Amino acid sequence: MPVALACGCSGALEVVPTALAMAHGGLCVELPMGDDLAALARDTGCEGEPSSVARRTPRGDVETSEVEVFACAAASEIKASDGSLFVGPALSTFLHRDTIGWRFSRGVSVAPVRTPTLPPATHTNTFVVGDLGGPFVLIEPATPYAEELERMVAWVRAHEARGGTLVGILATHHHPDHTGGAELLSDALGLPIRGHERALAGLPEAVRGAPVGDGDVIALGETSLRALFTPGHAPGHLCFLEERDQVLIAGDMVAGVGTILVEPSSGDMFEYLASLRRLVGEAPRGLVPAHGGLITHPVAHLQKTHDHRLARERKVIRALHAFPGPARADQLVPDAYADAPKSVWPLAALSVEAHLKKLVRDGVASRDAEGRFLSLASASVTPPP
Ligand SMILES: [Zn+2]
Repeated sequence: MPVALACGCSGALEVVPTALAMAHGGLCVELPMGDDLAALARDTGCEGEPSSVARRTPRGDVETSEVEVFACAAASEIKASDGSLFVGPALSTFLHRDTIGWRFSRGVSVAPVRTPTLPPATHTNTFVVGDLGGPFVLIEPATPYAEELERMVAWVRAHEARGGTLVGILATHHHPDHTGGAELLSDALGLPIRGHERALAGLPEAVRGAPVGDGDVIALGETSLRALFTPGHAPGHLCFLEERDQVLIAGDMVAGVGTILVEPSSGDMFEYLASLRRLVGEAPRGLVPAHGGLITHPVAHLQKTHDHRLARERKVIRALHAFPGPARADQLVPDAYADAPKSVWPLAALSVEAHLKKLVRDGVASRDAEGRFLSLASASVTPPP
């Protein structure tokens, strides 16, 4: 069972290490901060200090190596003494059976666990938020797989062994790749699952804890976690902002791998875009999505995601204008997604429908009795404020 070790630097950027690292003399593994967080890294005395990191060799083994942490100031990269870079944006680089979580800021650790999620993603990031030895929460009871659940429980136990107290289990939303382990984990850890009331409605009654609403703050010793209600991808979607260092746990608002699906039956494109704008306004300094690695320029990334959706929306409007007569969403896909491979068209049709529903709300399109969409001629397209 993995045991937490002290970090070679000041200790503030401690990482839950690997058995392998122990075998190499207790060197720690460190995931660097993006340059937005460079000052924080300097404050903790870590920048430029030799550290070590576990990495995959071409054969797939994991080894440790002395490195210099250049990455604190230069995106998420660590340069080894041989010049190779091996911290990419994907945390999966580091996945190894002995590794559970990676502490990448003072108050936030992440552990990707395998889930039945939407390809190309294979994992959902789960989080421990709270200082070592203090109260902490676990975010995303994501995995339904016994082996992965065991790792999550071991992760919690390792924090408890260092004096920490688990005070809550939170979910960003109800989708199965975020709550697939809700019952088993709740049972194993003896706490109910908390989340937005609309997310809790999708969980078995026996595991539902107290609802969390927009602006609710969970005190965690010297830091705290603030809930941000960000509907759109799912009706009860929350993001969680670690307030001391402004690290945003973004759930499925943006993706580090793959793309975020806003599907029209339970998602809402109008709300999704508004939620993205709200997150831009929060100006987080670090951001970790549910799928993929640390996003180093959060505000730019959020804005880009928002603008990309609006650009697609303009293509949907053009396709609707050009279509002879009322159209179903799938009939607009070949035009609106002409730049995308055909393999994504079935999913694209869901996205197009979500855009069309928003356009009806915006007064740019209307629906006929059969649910088909019509362009309201000469409607101009102005992005919402
Ligand atoms: Zn997800």
